[in-house]
Amino acid sequence: MEEVIYDVVIIGGGPAGLTAAQYAARSNLKTIVLDKSPTAGALAFTDKIENYPGLPEPISGKELLDIFREQAIRFGAEYVETQVIGVKLEGEIKETYTMDKTYKSKSVIIATGAMGRKPTIQGEKEFLGRGVSYCAICDAAFFRGKTVAVIGDSEEAVKEAELLTRYAGKVYLLAPSARLKLPDDHPVPDKENLEIIYNVIVKSINGNEVVEKVVLKDRKTDEERELPLDGVFVYLHGSRPVVDFLNFAVDLSDEECIITNSMMETNIPGVFAAGDVTCVEVRQVVIAAAKGCIAALSADKYVHHRKRRRLDWSKSKG
Ligand SMILES: Cc1cc2nc3c(=O)[nH]c(=O)nc-3n(C[C@H](O)[C@H](O)[C@H](O)COP(=O)(O)OP(=O)(O)OC[C@H]3O[C@@H](n4cnc5c(N)ncnc54)[C@H](O)[C@@H]3O)c2cc1C
Repeated sequence: MEEVIYDVVIIGGGPAGLTAAQYAARSNLKTIVLDKSPTAGALAFTDKIENYPGLPEPISGKELLDIFREQAIRFGAEYVETQVIGVKLEGEIKETYTMDKTYKSKSVIIATGAMGRKPTIQGEKEFLGRGVSYCAICDAAFFRGKTVAVIGDSEEAVKEAELLTRYAGKVYLLAPSARLKLPDDHPVPDKENLEIIYNVIVKSINGNEVVEKVVLKDRKTDEERELPLDGVFVYLHGSRPVVDFLNFAVDLSDEECIITNSMMETNIPGVFAAGDVTCVEVRQVVIAAAKGCIAALSADKYVHHRKRRRLDWSKSKG
């Protein structure tokens, strides 16, 4: 089979990545968006949005994100729901790695947002890779027939727990709140090997060589108890730029946001970044989208070795 080389691989399908996709595809760049989950980014978490220009009525973040995605796809961008786990950005042809495929491209736009967090649970960092994971699709097969827990109450956490039920013998969903944050069209899962425990905080992850148990604290009663298990999948969110999969392949600031110039260029030729993952003062959808547009125009200039960026409206003039 002939190897596909994309003009641009866009990592992240939030407003920054999807706006970049729209502009890149509309400029006839062969474009693909690799998105961990349409429910995992900051916009997907926004209940109601009313300050994005052009909206006559407030809509949910998810609805706005669907429009961004449909628009990008309509202009010819491919969209694949998959988590990027690594990159090789040096050289003319860049490589972006997911669990089941390597994507090659002439340029890369990083737009993974800022929903990341530092390990905060006692034992989380210590047992990372030894029972603690942030990627069910990557690691589920290691826990075939075993007992695992997913920590979180978001739609993403629920989806990952559902996926794990296909591999693990028993899955606990440890929700820090009294109900799961699910949209109306996503019912609370009802699977024989899935048990949801509400209102609990995971105080620590314990074991010797590998994870053996977690200590839970009931938020109502303060009672603590141990839960023996083999694996813990953490799906809690914070506000740190999501850059772990980059393994410092591009320059980051002390705050671990991606450093770009005003044209969204990183320190690596052909690699651009946009949105909340970059060092922005203000995190807003309109800004993420605008930076995504600039990143795509910069990628177009790079891929076609143009002296200047081609302004999008020049397209209609031929
Ligand atoms: C609760 C809340 C309310 C908000 N309210 C507003 C508001 O009212 N108005 C406003 O303008 N802004 C609001 N914001 C801010 C706004 O949502 C963000 O600034 C904007 O969504 C940033 O866009 P982004 O594309 O950079 O990142 P995100 O929207 O976070 O999207 C990042 C995407 O990258 C994907 N991703 C992450 N890691 C990987 C990986 N390894 N591989 C593949 N894909 C990956 C995620 O799945 C996600 O789809 C709010 C934010 C929050 C959290």
